[in-house]
Amino acid sequence: MAAFPPVRIPYGCQSIDQQDINAVMTVLQSDWLIQGPQLPRFEAAVAEWVGAAHGVGVSSGTAALHLACLALGVGPGDLVWTSPMSFVASANCARYCGADVDFVDIDSLTGNMDSALLESKLQQASISGRLPKVLIVVHFAGQPVDMEVIARLAVQYGVAVIEDAAHALGARYQDHAIGACRYSQIAIFSFHPVKAITTGEGGMAVTNDATLAVRMMELRSHGITRDASRMQGEVQGPWYYQQIALGYNYRMNEMQAALGVSQMTKLAGFIAARNRLARQYQNLLSDLPLILPVVGEGRESAWHLYVIQVEDPAIRLEVFNALRAAGIGVNVHYIPIHTQPDFQRLGFKEGQFPNAEVYYGRAISIPLFPTLSDLDQQYVADTLRKILTHR
Ligand SMILES: *Cc1c(COP(=O)(O)O)cnc(C)c1O
Repeated sequence: MAAFPPVRIPYGCQSIDQQDINAVMTVLQSDWLIQGPQLPRFEAAVAEWVGAAHGVGVSSGTAALHLACLALGVGPGDLVWTSPMSFVASANCARYCGADVDFVDIDSLTGNMDSALLESKLQQASISGRLPKVLIVVHFAGQPVDMEVIARLAVQYGVAVIEDAAHALGARYQDHAIGACRYSQIAIFSFHPVKAITTGEGGMAVTNDATLAVRMMELRSHGITRDASRMQGEVQGPWYYQQIALGYNYRMNEMQAALGVSQMTKLAGFIAARNRLARQYQNLLSDLPLILPVVGEGRESAWHLYVIQVEDPAIRLEVFNALRAAGIGVNVHYIPIHTQPDFQRLGFKEGQFPNAEVYYGRAISIPLFPTLSDLDQQYVADTLRKILTHR
């Protein structure tokens, strides 16, 4: 491995200001570090922003995916489909439930699941009698999946839909924010530091279905309820609670939730800044031998990532190394999940989802975050131009 200089411009990073710091400090001096008033406030803020009825805040996006699968009844013997072009968590959540995972290949232009491939795979699965219970779609890089098509197929074949919207807080599809769940049962967000807003670690599931929301709230805290109507038998006293299912400790603490409330007040500005930078990249890079991201009609991307594809995959490593050597913190999204050793062990083979593999072979994520300066962005573009034209 080449020894690189320190990263001067990361590919993504959080934006924390004094208001955020004050919000966390206030909690530290308050009575509640967990299970206080901040989490319900944060849940309401996110749910209201995206236009969903319920928000369930948890310890990570991965925990939200796990609880979403459990709430929809995913268990041993069930099948869950997702996109190979995602973070491993999109597939692991089904495995946590004891279910089997399979993938639907992507559209090479958007990196999102290809709905034509989904349709033919559903047709075949219907004939062979092994339809998935749940489909997890991923809004890759912040660009919404064509949810209307997905929902039509899901209804036709009786499949529930989870939106892995870890990249897509702030994105819009048709006239609604991603997370409004007009075409899905549950959507999940991540608040990892490189995502649209951060709580350090953290995640949230949003839904319009009160039953699913209650289930996820119980499962995030040991499967315990204090609601008499959910219990068997008598309430034995004011202290009483019952464990009614096997749950987890997936709670989000009050420092995280307060940071989240504060970050939400700035989300619109963060997304506007990302959009402006993405437009500028488009202008700065359009004449280079690169395939640049395109946003489909009726969609607004949250621009979580700016993924360029080098036209010639043979030079990807060289381009990547040259950018890193220039102090630019590039990354690659994603190594297709099915090629990971722990998935190959399950029987997945290289070559099985060729569009994702080709995309991976060309992809480089270049810096994009709200506080990226025009000067630094210009430096990234100039460096890329030099690398691609002077080789
Ligand atoms: C970040 C991410 C997750 C996991 O979120 P965590 O909060 O890190 O657990 C899941 N899916 C996708 C697509 C992600 O990018």
